[in-house]
Parts: sequence; C-alpha cells; structure tokens
Amino acid sequence: MARVYNFSAGPSVLPEPVLKKAAAEMLDYKGSGQSVMEMSHRSKVYDGIIKECEALLRETLAIPENYRVLFLQGGASTQFAMVPMNLRKNGKADFVVTGQWAKKACGEAKKFLSAHVVADSSDKTFTYIPKLDPASFDPEADYFHICLNNTIYGTHYTTLPETGNVPLVADVSSCILSEPMDISKFGLLYAGAQKNMAPAGLTVVIVRDDLVGNAGEDVPTMMNYKIHADNGSMYNTPPCYTIYICKLVLEWIRDEIGGLEAMKVRNEKKAGMLYDFLDQSKLFRGTVVPEDRSLMNIPFVTGNDSLDKKFVAEAEAAGFVNLKGHRSVGGMRASIYNAMPVEGVEKLVAFMQAFEKNNG
Ligand SMILES: *Cc1c(COP(=O)(O)O)cnc(C)c1O
Repeated sequence: MARVYNFSAGPSVLPEPVLKKAAAEMLDYKGSGQSVMEMSHRSKVYDGIIKECEALLRETLAIPENYRVLFLQGGASTQFAMVPMNLRKNGKADFVVTGQWAKKACGEAKKFLSAHVVADSSDKTFTYIPKLDPASFDPEADYFHICLNNTIYGTHYTTLPETGNVPLVADVSSCILSEPMDISKFGLLYAGAQKNMAPAGLTVVIVRDDLVGNAGEDVPTMMNYKIHADNGSMYNTPPCYTIYICKLVLEWIRDEIGGLEAMKVRNEKKAGMLYDFLDQSKLFRGTVVPEDRSLMNIPFVTGNDSLDKKFVAEAEAAGFVNLKGHRSVGGMRASIYNAMPVEGVEKLVAFMQAFEKNNG
C-alpha cells in the first residue's frame, strides 16, 4: 500500500524512518523481549529511554543547564491552566491574542489571575502578528504569553517581545524543533508533541529553574511543575511509548537531517516552494501577510468556496490528504511539519499547477 502525503495540522505526519524503526522494535525492544508499550516505566530499560530522550532534546535545542524538561500529559491545552497555577505571584499576566490557541490560553488564565490583552489581531482574522509596544507591557506581570506559531492561521513571530524581567511564556506546539531557538529568551515553553515531535499524548514543558516551586497550596499535585521536576517526570506513569517515539524523532533529526540548522534550511526550502507558487498564482493566494508567514502551516484560498472544495476533493483522490482549512478560516491549509518530505511539497505544487491550468 502506498503512503499518502499527509498535510494534517495535528496529529501529523511522522518521519518514515522513525515508523520503520518503531515497527522493527515493536515485538522485542533491544533484546528485552517486550515492546516499549508493555514495559514498566520503572524498569532499567525504560529509564534509559526517557533519559536519552531528555538528553537528546537538551542537545538538539541547546537547552541551558538552568532549565528543567518535563514530560507531561494533558496537551498544550492543560498548560493554559498550569502556567498561571504555577507562575502566579502578583496575580496578573499579559497576553498577545494572535489566534484561537492564544485566546484560549488567555481565557483559561482568567480563572486564576487578571489577564491583560496587550494586542489582538482578530480584526483581520489573525492574518498578521501585531506590532507590540513595550510601553504597554505590565512590568509587574507574572508572565507574558505568546503563541509563537499560530497553527490555524499560519502566522509566526519574527522577533520576540522584549519583556525585561517578566518571564516570556510561549506555546510552541506547532514550531518546536523546526529551527534553532534561543531558549534563554524564555521563562517557559510548552508544546503538545503531536505536531512536530511524536504522536499525541505527550506534552513537553521547558521551564527555567526559578519558575518551578512557586505553586500555591491549592494547586493539585499533578498540576504542580515541582512535583514533576523533582520526580524526573515519573511521579506517575508518563506517556511511555510517545516518549520513545519522541526519542526516535530526535535521533532522526540528529542523524538524518543534521540538527536544527539543517532542519531550518530544509523547512525554508519547502515553505519557499509553496509561497513562491502562491505569490505568482492567478488562482490561489496565501492568506497571511508575507512578513509573518509560518514555515509550518500555510493557509491558502482560491476565493471561491466551491472551487476550494473541488480542490480538496481532487487533491485527496490524488494522495494529498488533510488539506482542508480550519473551519474558522475556510479554504485550504498545508501543514508541512519537519517530517513532510521535500518531495511531498514539490508534488503538491505540481498538482496545484495542474489544477490551476484546468480551472483557471
Ligand atoms: C494543537 C495546538 C494546541 C492544542 O494542543 P492540545 O495538545 O490538543 O491541547 C495548542 N496550541 C497550539 C499552538 C497548537 O498548535
């Protein structure tokens, strides 16, 4: 059976070598006589897997010593609440609302503190990242929250807000591992793994030491970063198999791509091909302002709903799946995460060219 080109926004395509390795190790992981799915998380063999996964993540992202890496569950959505539960001191935080996820992070935080919206790009359906004026930032805020890559709308920050002593917190669910990042610019980063790291079920939190251990007495044990940090993400059963796949993905980035600088070049090449095509097309157009375009999620439209539907249906029949845009934007969206091969984007562009010729 032929594999399709999967442009899903998440859960999304995984590198084929990773799936093959997982398949080869399915029944007997390295002579243990067990699948990784079956083994105790307290076993020596599993301890090696989770430690190696953390070590690889630290190496890949150059995570400084004074940051903790937590492997949690509950998705990025749970972090919308865990961040205020753990970082609350003065009881207020700043938010930039650049889409549905950023808005949800802000809405959830309101249950715990006073949330101030610094800027909002809903006036133009979140097709741009608002210009920020640091004079409008609250120097007493417990944190300043951004969504670095807006999965639904296809925007990405080109420069980070200068928040001074206020910890910058970023939802990096859909861009983590897509290019190098200066972790030291952030107080905390979090990501659901199902876009660029692993299957669903794992949430990665990277948090500076001084932001761990400040949760109030009322914060539930499982929601307290310190509990997870002190127990090496093993306070309770971690999402064992997903962490194992994450380790394989990190090995793939290191051994087959050559690290995040090389990953960035590859991602720029892929996104560039699609944006270049969209910019000269007379049928299709990208929906995001050029300066804020994402490397990972590329929404586009024809401007005609029935033609959009026809495109999505014909693309699917040709083996390009999950190209339908998010219900709040319409049109199409190609999510071209790390694992999408260059060839997948080349073939999609060729398919779009042919569609334009037949429907122009
Ligand atoms: C997918 C996504 C989420 C939601 O993640 P869950 O793991 O489903 O909670 C949040 N933020 C961003 C930026 C996303 O892409």
